[in-house]
Amino acid sequence: MTIFQRILDGEIPADVVHEDDLAIAFRDISPQAPTHILVIPRKPIVSIQSAEEVDQALLGHLMLVAQRVARAEGLDDGYRIVTNIGQQGGQSVPHLHLHVLGGRQLTWPPG
Ligand code: AMP
Repeated sequence: MTIFQRILDGEIPADVVHEDDLAIAFRDISPQAPTHILVIPRKPIVSIQSAEEVDQALLGHLMLVAQRVARAEGLDDGYRIVTNIGQQGGQSVPHLHLHVLGGRQLTWPPG
């Protein structure tokens, strides 16, 4: 079981900023920017790589939750949505999540 599943199950605490039937969003425990929030589906999808056609609406919902979270955080000057996939993508938790990063000037390219 992943750490995010434990958060979904209420077994370990998280600083939850959004919750609905399909998704939750909570603050990253190791923030890489003044705002660093993770948006995850309740459905245990490992990553975008294992998402399926049936997940199309859910994936769109996650993006709109990210938008809503960014708005609530006042990220009016811009922000970044990132999803890491697999080993070379730098994914450490095998439960799909969107990172919402903002509150400072972000650089490109990422490492
Ligand atoms: P990734 O490396 O893309 O899989 O991102 C996983 C993210 O989960 C990292 O940014 C971690 O800091 C974050 N993380 C790990 N455990 C927790 C936790 N218990 N609560 C909040 N964020 C976490």
